[in-house]
Parts: sequence; structure tokens; C-alpha cells
Amino acid sequence: MFESLQERLGSILNGLTGRGALSEADVAAALREVRRALLEADVALDVVRSFTDKVRERAVGAAVLKSIKPGQMVVKIVHDELVAMLGEEGVPIDLNAPAPVVIMMVGLQGSGKTTTSAKIARRLTDRQGKKVLMASLDTRRPAAQEQLRQLGEQVKVATLPVVAGQSPVDIARRAVHAAKLGGHDVLILDTAGRTHIDEPLMVEMAEIKAASNPHEILLVADSLTGQDAVNLARNFDERVGITGLVLTRMDGDGRGGAALSMRAVTGKPIKLIGTGEKMDALEEFYPKRIADRILGMGDIVSLVEKAAETIDAEKAAAMAKKMQSGKFDLNDLADQLGQMQKMGGMGGIMGMMPGMGKMKDQMAAAGLDDRMFKRQLAIISSMTRAERANPDILKHSRKKRIAAGSGADAAEINKLLKMHRGMADMMKAMGGKGKGGGMMRGLM
Ligand code: GDP
Repeated sequence: MFESLQERLGSILNGLTGRGALSEADVAAALREVRRALLEADVALDVVRSFTDKVRERAVGAAVLKSIKPGQMVVKIVHDELVAMLGEEGVPIDLNAPAPVVIMMVGLQGSGKTTTSAKIARRLTDRQGKKVLMASLDTRRPAAQEQLRQLGEQVKVATLPVVAGQSPVDIARRAVHAAKLGGHDVLILDTAGRTHIDEPLMVEMAEIKAASNPHEILLVADSLTGQDAVNLARNFDERVGITGLVLTRMDGDGRGGAALSMRAVTGKPIKLIGTGEKMDALEEFYPKRIADRILGMGDIVSLVEKAAETIDAEKAAAMAKKMQSGKFDLNDLADQLGQMQKMGGMGGIMGMMPGMGKMKDQMAAAGLDDRMFKRQLAIISSMTRAERANPDILKHSRKKRIAAGSGADAAEINKLLKMHRGMADMMKAMGGKGKGGGMMRGLM
């Protein structure tokens, strides 16, 4: 799975990671290579373009962390954007509905629908203790119904007995009825495929959907068909509406581009991947794991993550120390306000601190809200370095200049200074009791 892409990306990024400094041109050249590698892996052009744009944007704007080489930072950014492209989180099959939960399997003939139906049935039975019924709605190929029956026997899951002459919709209705009567938790409907999408197939799918009210409609697509699989997904989704995808034959593909574009193009999650013909060859699709597999650079990614944490922790510790000593100047206040905005404003921060609900209300009553913080940041940024370090020098003429620069009036400036003084005093007092660091650490 993804071998050739992994090799290509690996050599491109390895070329970056060893270097001490990277110019924008270096990054651009590497990204051109990445772009080519993704296109050769059959990732959709639009997806590739938006991916490289995002990586470039972040790479240029990224603050390089201490102890991290720029190239390593780029690897981490590529990794994060890959995860984003793949959908961030794994999305399992959703069984959250009244029993019997109907899972409708759709897709072209030979894509692996019947095999995947049995694999899913086995998994739900063995791992989740569900009572499952499977039904084949493929009336055109009696062999298909027989195949499902045999697989059912193999994985010890019940299949709906075949009644000759029934239409797919009739079978669907009968299956729902049987599942209810039999007390089954889940009903898997294995629909008929065609060699290609045609109108009668889509009409049939829509009718089956109407008759069985499926909670999940999973499109099974052969990952070896690359871009065709992506188009297929788009088509099925427009006509029938799908809730997720299963990509089969991931064991056979070195390119894997379909998997990479699927989510971005259709907006539907890849829920499972088929990795072989055996009944246990089915895996959950976890974007982060897949990205790790593709890049094969998990050690660099975690190195960068750790460095980012360390920086935050170092900053927090330095700030706490400063506060405890009572040396909390307006630069520090601006840092705090900026940090607060980064963390989702007042609501975000208070939400993280237990027991802060009441304080939040009090602050709101006092007019301390996010808009005010923004204005305060504007005031502070209109001050000189010396003024921020030593607010005591802020007399009338300086305040006038700051007011003109920030669009605030003298009263607002005085209010800010008063708040700062109050905070500095409070921190000093708390620092004396040895409690300040902990609480303020929570604030950062
Ligand atoms: P259907 O026509 O969509 O129901 O497709 P089938 O379930 O009959 O599968 C067609 C063939 O593909 C069978 O020989 C399966 O064993 C094989 N197959 C299905 N899924 C996978 C997979 O993930 N990997 C591999 N290597 N073969 C698979």
C-alpha cells in the first residue's frame, strides 16, 4: 500500500530535513516534486493543487522552533496536511439507530461488495457481538446469491433464504421483515452491481433505499481503478447518497491515489479498507495512521510535536516566574491577550478551567469581553517598548499619542493600566503564597 508514493516523498523530504537553512526557493522546489509525486500516484489534480498551496502557505508562515531544522518542520506540515486531506479522524460504521440497522452496500460488479459484506458481518459479530443478517439483492446473477450464502456459512452469519422470482425491492422488504422478526441488530443488503453505472442501476438503488431505509449506504470501490473510483463515488453520491466508502484491494496498489483524493473530492469518509481476499482482511481507515504510513517519517513528526510542546511549556514557565516576581509588564499582558485569542478567547479559556463559569459571568458583567481584549491589544501595540516595560512613565502626553494611534480614548487607556496594575499586584500576592504559577499556567 502506497509503496511508490512513500518512496518518492521519502526521498524528496529527506533532501530537506538534513539542511540547516531552507530558502523559499528550496521549499518551492521540493513542493514541485511533491506535486509530481502525488499526481503520479493518481491523486486528483484539484486535490493536489489545494494540498501544495496549503503546505506552501504554512511553510512560509511557520515559526521555526528551536532545536528543529526547517526541513523537519516542512515534513511535519506535509504530514498534517495529508491528515487533513484524508479527513482528520477515523469514522467508524454508525450503528446508532433502532434495530435492525440497515447497511446497504453499493458499487460496481467485481468491486468486492459481496466479500466486504461478509467481512463487515464477521467483524460486527465477532468484535461487537451483533446479531447480523445478510441478504443478496442480486437477482441477475444467481451465483452472487450463492456466493453470499457460502461466505455467510464461512463467517457464521445468517443469510436470507433465496426465493426465486422476487425483485430486488421485494427481497429488500422481506429482508427487513425477517431481520425484525429474527431480532437481528444489523441487516446488510448486498445489492447488485453492473460493469458500469447506468440509469436502471441507479433507479434500482433508489428504490431499494426507499424500501429499506438504510442507516449506512457504503460505496465499495476498487482502489486499483484510481480516478475512476473517485468519479464513481461522486456519481453514486449524487444519485443515491452515500454515507461512506470502503476501498478494496488496498493490498494490491502501490499508488493509492484514489484513497488520497476520495475524501477531499466527495466529502464522504473512507470508513474501511480491504487489504486482501481473506475474511479478516479489513481495516479501519485512520487518516493519521495512513499519513504516517505514506510518509514513513513518524519520528520526525513526533520530534516536531514535542518541540512545540516544549516551547509552550518553556514560555509558560518563564511567564509564571515573571508573574510570581511581580514583574509583569505590558508586554507580558499583550502576550497573554494574544495567547487568549489564539485559544478561542475568553469562552475558550474559561471553558478549560474548572469552576471558572462564575468568574466568566463576573468578567462579562464588568465589560471584559473578547472585543475589549482586541481593543486592549491595539492600545498596547501603540505603545513604545519602554512604555510597555514601564507603564509608570505613561503621563498625559504619551497617553494622548497612544489614544491617537489606537483609536481609543483616555478613559480606556486608564482602564487598561488599572487592570494591568491589578493583575500584577494579584500575581505578586499569589506568587508569595506559591500558587500563582499553577493557575496562570492554566491561562496560557
Ligand atoms: P462484487 O461483485 O462486488 O460482489 O465482488 P466480490 O466480492 O465478488 O469480489 C471480487 C473479487 O475480488 C473476489 O475474488 C474477492 O476475493 C476479491 N477481493 C475483494 N476485496 C478484496 C481486497 O481487499 N483485496 C484483494 N486482494 N481482493 C479482494
